[in-house]
Amino acid sequence: MSLYKKLLATTLLLLLLLLPASSMIFLVNSPFSVQPMFSIVWITDTQHMSERFPQNFDSLCNWIVDYSEILNIKAVIHTGDIVEHPESIVEWNRASHSISILLKNNIPYCWDAGNHDQLGTSWYGKHFQALDTKIMSGQNYWISDILDGKNTALYFRASNWDFLVINMEFHPTCEVMSWANQLIERHPTCHTIIATHAYLNGIGEYEDWDHSYEQKYFEEKVLASHSNVFLTLNGHFMDGNRTSRTFTGNRHELFFNYQHTGGEGDATLRILTFSKEEDAIFVNTVNTVTNQFLTDPENCFTLDIPFFEKSHTIENFTLSEKLNLTRYDAKEALSEVQYFATCSTLTLLFLVTSLLLIKRKTRKTPKC
Ligand SMILES: [Zn+2]
Repeated sequence: MSLYKKLLATTLLLLLLLLPASSMIFLVNSPFSVQPMFSIVWITDTQHMSERFPQNFDSLCNWIVDYSEILNIKAVIHTGDIVEHPESIVEWNRASHSISILLKNNIPYCWDAGNHDQLGTSWYGKHFQALDTKIMSGQNYWISDILDGKNTALYFRASNWDFLVINMEFHPTCEVMSWANQLIERHPTCHTIIATHAYLNGIGEYEDWDHSYEQKYFEEKVLASHSNVFLTLNGHFMDGNRTSRTFTGNRHELFFNYQHTGGEGDATLRILTFSKEEDAIFVNTVNTVTNQFLTDPENCFTLDIPFFEKSHTIENFTLSEKLNLTRYDAKEALSEVQYFATCSTLTLLFLVTSLLLIKRKTRKTPKC
């Protein structure tokens, strides 16, 4: 190798070593070469970190803080199963310790209660600082919560866009979906993300809920009826792949779950980086312990922004206005769901009766 080539190689190596960590991120993965307008970080199924690897959960949250400025992180969304054992105070303490790293650093976040977080219908999460809705309601991004914080919602603004994130517990009940619907309907100009614990599975399909009319209500009345819902996020499933996605109606639907990947493998998060210039959402997946990006097509891909053409500016949209609007009438909402459930039942009854009548009539017809 000539002296010139040696000098060039040494200089390049030195430059790489001297680059600060915040700049390195743009070298790891091509989507990061664009200047992000803003990013959303998605974490889920952190249960084994709360159970056995609390240092990795801390590492996950510290990573978010370290990159919050450069990625312009507007929200962290936890889609449930925060702990493995819902009655374990040790696990809740660990989870709260880790998530408090976000709280102390003013990183907006919300969560939902997964099936592992609940004892029947109650949960202990409300007793811990990072999941205490009395503390969260003092945060300027907090919109609403119900059922002791098993379901939460936040708001943020990026550029001239308003966003609402509604995060619903495992198989949300009628009451929870009514709350969500009222939030969506009272904020029609917000581009809305619906997060929940279990929805799309590892092979891109939907598994049956215990109550089929609630599942139908979720799909038809919470998602399909609202054109401003552009994205769903969920975790939970362990069969099939660790990640899947589809596009339905006007929205992207994403599943992601890295639990059970062993120790540091669980400390994997998703970053959704919105770029107005590119009209795209760059989805990246990173292990926060090793700082390694997963570069396969299932973990590193690009989505279009479904509402890009319809973006608008709402100048008079203030937080106090929103908070006033979010007081919802549970009675009114419940009656709406009950009406939907009754209609479904009546339709089913009508069909069954018709079939029975037809069968009876057929039986009476004399054979030729
Ligand atoms: Zn789960």
